[in-house]
Amino acid sequence: MKQVNKFYKDPKWMAKRIRILKRDEYRCKECLRYGRSVAAATVHHVIPLDQRPDLKFNSDNLISLCNKCHDKMHDRTNNKLTKLGEQWIRRMKAEK
Ligand SMILES: [Zn+2]
Repeated sequence: MKQVNKFYKDPKWMAKRIRILKRDEYRCKECLRYGRSVAAATVHHVIPLDQRPDLKFNSDNLISLCNKCHDKMHDRTNNKLTKLGEQWIRRMKAEK
């Protein structure tokens, strides 16, 4: 967990994060699926950082989300992805 927190303070990540937000026009990708235009607040690793650290800067593995949707991707009780989070992995792989 400590390593993960450190990662989010990495200037390289900060720059990447901005690039992804710009790419997604600062809109939440999950809300967009329902035709809602909601400002994104965070950039989510589709395949979690601890599972695939090699994909941490991979744009294909990153999506912009609002806080509400981001909370829906992670089960905070066990730190695992929710069904919705898993869905995004399949969606990302299908797009390739
Ligand atoms: Zn959203």
